[in-house]
Amino acid sequence: MDMVKTIGVLTSGGDSPGMNPAVRAVARTAIRKGVRVFGFMNGYQGILDDDLMELTSRSLAGMLDRGGTFLRSSRCRSFYTEEGRCLAVRKLADHRIDGLVVVGGDGSLKGALELNRLGVPVIGLPGTIDNDIYGTETGIGVDTASNTIVDSVDKIKDTARSHRRCFLIEVMGRNSGYLALTTAITTGAEVAVIPEFRYNIPRIIDLMNSRYRNRLSDTIIMLAEGVCDADTFAQQLREAAGDSLKQEIRKTVLGHVQRGGTPSSADRLISSQMGEFAVLALLQGERNSLVGLNRGRITLVDLEKVCTMKKHLPTDKIRLARHLGIEIGDAVEM
Ligand code: ADP
Repeated sequence: MDMVKTIGVLTSGGDSPGMNPAVRAVARTAIRKGVRVFGFMNGYQGILDDDLMELTSRSLAGMLDRGGTFLRSSRCRSFYTEEGRCLAVRKLADHRIDGLVVVGGDGSLKGALELNRLGVPVIGLPGTIDNDIYGTETGIGVDTASNTIVDSVDKIKDTARSHRRCFLIEVMGRNSGYLALTTAITTGAEVAVIPEFRYNIPRIIDLMNSRYRNRLSDTIIMLAEGVCDADTFAQQLREAAGDSLKQEIRKTVLGHVQRGGTPSSADRLISSQMGEFAVLALLQGERNSLVGLNRGRITLVDLEKVCTMKKHLPTDKIRLARHLGIEIGDAVEM
């Protein structure tokens, strides 16, 4: 096994709270182990542009509690081409990078897999609020984003109750309903509309009307962005209900506020653990793996598998939502 003397780290794709603590843990662990560490700016673009800086303990001060990513992130078009990736391999060799840690979502991890195919030892960390990456029970930023959603919905509920309104709350998640489902549970929402299940408009309208009749003052519907946007869904509800709908529907699109903010304690811990583990893995000659959390333990999962397998919603959360009486629609054949 070749000695690892210098490593690189980058953050790519959609940013998530906890990326900074992850990079900090990568750098600190590497420095402690006598390994030089360079941070590439703007995701994969930084490799192509030779935009990098050596990370020292000093350059990482104050990063633990900062949201976003100080290494910045971007979507790098050239990386979709073999030519762009081959150029990146040459640039990494020029900088004598022996291994790379990539913090990013499923797209970024596909990029990492391609780099590994071209001979670069790569370890990925799941930087995503969507929790849609196979091989790990959670991603860096999921907890903080969930807390942001819960805080916002708690506030919306005050006004919803005052006016006996229905609020349709659109949350992120790309094609995953994880955030909508779990925050429906933690906010006490009545309905979760998620891409994994077929929503049932008549049942939702019945539920809204029966709550209104029973003088229950509000209805909260958590809508995953992967289903459709809030305007489209509200329109469908109104059209299906016609005059029968007594409750007024208002929408709130939480948007990018879900990506921002100080990382929660849970995200600081998990990202620090994953960052440390990534460096130890590279030093032990591991490559082409994702650092994941599984049954409370930090594990390595084959990146090929991560990039080809689909992550499913956790069945215990689906069961819980049903037992709590949340309307989540009907299971569809996969
Ligand atoms: P995320 O990592 O949050 O899912 P993207 O899907 O936009 O975000 O991916 C981030 C970057 O990763 C892209 O801009 C591109 O540089 C790289 N990337 C994504 N998919 C691939 C792929 N299939 N092959 C190579 N690089 C990719």
